Amino acid sequence: MAAIDPCSEVYPGLNADFQSTQSKTVALTFDDAPDPQNTARTLDDLAAAGLKATFFVNTNNQMNVANDATAQALLKRIASEGHTIGSHTVDHIALDDLSTTRIEYELGGLETTLASLGIATPKLFRPPHGTPFIRADADTPRVASVVRRHAVTVLWTFGGNPTLDWDCDANVQCVLNSYLSWFQSGTSGIPLMHAVKAGTAGALPQLLAAGKAAGVNFVSVDNFVQERYGMSPAAVVSHINSTCPDAGWAAASASSAAASSGNSGPGRRGGPGDPSNPGGPGGAGPGGPGPRGGGGPVLLELTDA
Ligand SMILES: [Zn+2]
Repeated sequence: MAAIDPCSEVYPGLNADFQSTQSKTVALTFDDAPDPQNTARTLDDLAAAGLKATFFVNTNNQMNVANDATAQALLKRIASEGHTIGSHTVDHIALDDLSTTRIEYELGGLETTLASLGIATPKLFRPPHGTPFIRADADTPRVASVVRRHAVTVLWTFGGNPTLDWDCDANVQCVLNSYLSWFQSGTSGIPLMHAVKAGTAGALPQLLAAGKAAGVNFVSVDNFVQERYGMSPAAVVSHINSTCPDAGWAAASASSAAASSGNSGPGRRGGPGDPSNPGGPGGAGPGGPGPRGGGGPVLLELTDA
């Protein structure tokens, strides 16, 4: 299959419909780290299994990384143990609620904090709540024009059925009920899990063993990006910035963002899994993210991602 030119798309990404041509090939992904209890357990599980994963991290979600030595040590550990660090934004706010300036901060601010820890700029990105990528809307081109300058967007091709690990909290059996048969099947894809839940950390040894028993080849997300675009995530981003038509517009947007990123308030902390607020962030973020359109079909974007 011929590789796709990243300029031909609104954004380069692995969407929910991505299907690898490689059989029994899985890229593990864990979101929302660091967390004081369960990120280390998740890392322990992966080390015990001898597997690498991609962690889509925040710098001000479960922990405020800039002010927390424990959080900093956890991020350094993720990197030092050979996992890939992707961006999940600073504050874990749905990007379509935010101004273009604030979106630039949500990516650039995370990059700055990671750089202060000696961690390279992520070239993979997972949008909080999946929006506005998992279901495109009028905001998608605007959000994507900023995001694609930074990283390749990575959604997920399996997120639990019927219950996401996020919603299982500490219930190991709940996670197994949702994920085990998928790992046993040896199906290729990108499972969505979280590095901040005791249920996930508790279920992971069994899930990974099941995948191994099924003959799964565990790879990095980079492997799938390479398959789709014929180049690494870093090369895709470089290509976007140097070659694609609106690169000039996006660069101008970035420079204006740098001048006004002081509007970054405390943002929203904690997980978005509150069932009483399924529509997403409840307006705590600067720039006034208003109520989001909940009430639709129960898609994964309405729970955490
Ligand atoms: Zn998330």
